[in-house]
Amino acid sequence: MIPRAALSIDLESYWHAELLRDHIDRSRADDRLLHVLPPLLDLLAARDIQATFFVVGEVIDRHPALVQEIAARGHEIGCHTYSHRPLWELDADSFAAELQGFAAAMNRHLPGVQVVGFRAPTFSLNPATAWALPVLARFGYRYDSSVFPVRTPLYGVPGCPAGPYRPAANLVDMDAAAPLWEWPMTAWRVGPLTLPVCGGFYLRVLPLPIILRGLRAALRQGPIVVYFHPWELDAGIPRLPLRWQDRLITYTNVGQSMQRRLHTLLDHFRFGRMVDILAL
Ligand SMILES: [Zn+2]
Repeated sequence: MIPRAALSIDLESYWHAELLRDHIDRSRADDRLLHVLPPLLDLLAARDIQATFFVVGEVIDRHPALVQEIAARGHEIGCHTYSHRPLWELDADSFAAELQGFAAAMNRHLPGVQVVGFRAPTFSLNPATAWALPVLARFGYRYDSSVFPVRTPLYGVPGCPAGPYRPAANLVDMDAAAPLWEWPMTAWRVGPLTLPVCGGFYLRVLPLPIILRGLRAALRQGPIVVYFHPWELDAGIPRLPLRWQDRLITYTNVGQSMQRRLHTLLDHFRFGRMVDILAL
């Protein structure tokens, strides 16, 4: 039986993160993916889990063998743009160039591997950037997973449906004629609250019993999707001199604490690939 919980991993270097991207000389730095990815792949293999990796095209060009290994192990490869610029810095033409750059990197290093899923950097899909959806459809994508159900200082589309849906241009209503699926990040909707128990910063800071309870409640309503970044598992991530609030968001519980949380999630849910759960 296909699981109803999707595990999605945004495969990017730590310096792609929104709050870090202007703070590092990428040409000289080690992006640490060769330290953090092999143990993650072994963990998933030991538990017989296949996940969805939304990969930044620059990572494919930098570490082709690593991404080939991910695909060879049966994980789904999705697109996380070529250079990880958020949609609000792009327009339809420059976004198409990002998708072309990603497709070219795939052709160079993973020819023949089909990609049907997309996730926007920094959950930057909102009603103002929904022009991206027809562009994705034109490139043959079948689903998008970029809507965050809670408004945060950077992103979010409050009021969106809880599970996969065909989105209207405002991303809140449904439109059966929409060319692709939208699968928003999972939240626990309890009374007036919408708690994003699905990953990233929230997965690192919310109490674990709340996360587990919220995910279980959401799973009773439909499929759920959890996400994290490999750099969040990295105890050796370089600590950059950020503003205190950016330091808090970026580094709280990164490393062993996040590793323990991931293990607990894998203990409690049976995870699979997004493309299988959507039956595409
Ligand atoms: Zn990202």
